[in-house]
Amino acid sequence: MYKRMLVLRFPPEITDQPLVCSLSREYDLCFNILKATIFPGQEGLMVLEISGYKKQVQEGLRYLRSKGVAVKSIAQEIRRNNDICIQCGACTAMCPTKALYIDDESREVRFVPSECKGCELCVAVCPVRAMEIRFAKDKVLV
Ligand code: SF4
Ligand code: SF4
Repeated sequence: MYKRMLVLRFPPEITDQPLVCSLSREYDLCFNILKATIFPGQEGLMVLEISGYKKQVQEGLRYLRSKGVAVKSIAQEIRRNNDICIQCGACTAMCPTKALYIDDESREVRFVPSECKGCELCVAVCPVRAMEIRFAKDKVLV
């Protein structure tokens, strides 16, 4: 079984189309949506894990791209620079896997690297750039 973790960005004009459903129907792929923010008339964003036969995964991704979806593979390692994190919590609202969360007792923002899927959503919202992307050669995807 071949797996890919992806970030999909849908331009506003196609957010009302059931494109992801076609991955299952037309390409026999399984998918697990980790995060989705899609509103009619605005850009949509989805973090998705898909699995299936490699050839069908590749054809499914070609199909999405042909419809105008920006498809980005997740292949980086994400780290937090604890020296500069100001514990603002902004990243926890974005994290689809709860790799970043607020500890109920201490109220500190915790980061659990083993739960991180590398979607980079936390990187964009961190005001002090404490979430860092490291390129991981052993995770390069084609
Ligand atoms: S990259 Fe950031 S937002 Fe995405 S799963 Fe990892 S910690 Fe969560
Ligand atoms: S957004 Fe950045 S500064 Fe705020 S808690 Fe997350 S890592 Fe720390």
